[in-house]
Amino acid sequence: MTVAATTHQATGPARLTTDHEILATTEVLRGSFEAGVTRSYEWRSQQLRQFIRMVDENQQAMVDALAHDLSKPYFEAWSAEPQFLKAELTHTLKHLARWMKPRRVSVSMAVQPARGYIQPEPLGVALVIGAWNYPIQLSLGPAIGAIAAGNCVVIKPSELASASSELQRRLVDKYLDREAVRVVEGGVAETSLLLEQRWDHIFYTGGGAIGKVVMAAAAKHLTPVTLELGGKSPCIVDQDVDLETAARRIVWGRFFNAGQTCVAPDYILAHEAVEEPLIAKLKQVLKEFYGADPKASRDFARIINERHFQRLKKLLGAGEVAVGGETDEAERYIAPTILRNVKETDPVMEDEIFGPILPVIKVPNVDHALRFINSRPKPLALYVFTKDKQVSAKVVERTSSGGVCINDAISHMLPPDLPFGGVGASGMGAYHGKRSFDTFSHQKSVLDKPTFVDPALRYPPYTEEKLKWVRRLL
Ligand code: NAD
Repeated sequence: MTVAATTHQATGPARLTTDHEILATTEVLRGSFEAGVTRSYEWRSQQLRQFIRMVDENQQAMVDALAHDLSKPYFEAWSAEPQFLKAELTHTLKHLARWMKPRRVSVSMAVQPARGYIQPEPLGVALVIGAWNYPIQLSLGPAIGAIAAGNCVVIKPSELASASSELQRRLVDKYLDREAVRVVEGGVAETSLLLEQRWDHIFYTGGGAIGKVVMAAAAKHLTPVTLELGGKSPCIVDQDVDLETAARRIVWGRFFNAGQTCVAPDYILAHEAVEEPLIAKLKQVLKEFYGADPKASRDFARIINERHFQRLKKLLGAGEVAVGGETDEAERYIAPTILRNVKETDPVMEDEIFGPILPVIKVPNVDHALRFINSRPKPLALYVFTKDKQVSAKVVERTSSGGVCINDAISHMLPPDLPFGGVGASGMGAYHGKRSFDTFSHQKSVLDKPTFVDPALRYPPYTEEKLKWVRRLL
């Protein structure tokens, strides 16, 4: 195992896809879809097997690209990207035949005799736009669903993670069917050109501001969208809590990938009875995980680019630093930082932090925490640490968020049968497992009626007698 610890240099994409190539790509893929290339089970399963080979044979290349782009530690890179994809691919391949089958439904008396069923069908040509924080998982992951559902797909990874983007283009070209699956590399200009084209589904992961741009472009063609956005995911720590475990899980969830995780606990709402001991535990756990000098740890990533580094550095001014606070611009290093006595009005409480800073706000009780959360946009994830089942049930019932995780952080996004997505400001639509297949499918209703019987009841001339019978039947 190679342990990645290189510091990355920001570069642009290795090779921008030209306008001509973008237009040619969409034309080729449209032609393939119309020719029915991607519809069969054989094509889909063969592509998924190739996809698995691509991931298996290039795990190290992926980890290296992630080390270049984000200095991701080997463990975090491997587990959250190639390994995550492998699990999703294996699950999809295992269930694909069943997911593709028409689903029988019962039909009402009014249409009998007849057979009713729902036939999933591919939408057509899909566009996947990925974000930079998990630059491989978030671009290739949605493409698994698109392929499984029988679509052609263009994948546009984030230009900010340039090595990962370039690697994906090379691998997809080499392993997958070029007539149906392609990677387009580029930034705003290339994505804007892509968005001008007609798609049958657009799957976007990133911030809400660009989510609006994507949705507006999609509206021009009435294209359905999935928007995987972010937001400030709160973390409630109740007084009745296993502090030791809570601290370990919160620190892991917040500082994995240096906090650049869409579902990372963004801030803690700590019951006043445990705020002090919780902060002490968080400090202790940080030291256990990353040592006395986290900068020297091989297990702590770096900030993606200069802009995000400067943005995060400014947020360090809120409240008091309980631990951390150091920065190094040359390495784009921000120490894992806990802020205490943070005010609701501090800049760090405005937007999603998306970095290794964790503010702690003291609350008198859980009801106060719920009011705090419910007065803000709906988050992507919501965490509650408590031993009291009534408290966790109350949190689930009285709040709205993409997902809830009780007594852990991040792990609710791992089981493929739990759909992953946001609500309100944190996004629309969901994916993972069968939900990815459904996202890229149309559920077509089919009614199949035999001709051996054709009562005249519904046909003109309408009579009182016919109406009487129809009333009885409906
Ligand atoms: P980003 O800058 O990589 O942008 C996302 C994508 O949008 C990129 O592919 C980029 O090329 C494209 N893009 C950027 N500007 C554009 C424009 N003007 N027109 C068209 N396309 C454009 O990523 P980001 O927005 O910094 O991502 C961070 C946000 O994403 C955070 O809010 C985070 O919570 C969210 N996120 C959500 C999830 C999820 O699964 N819900 C996952 C990761 C990140």
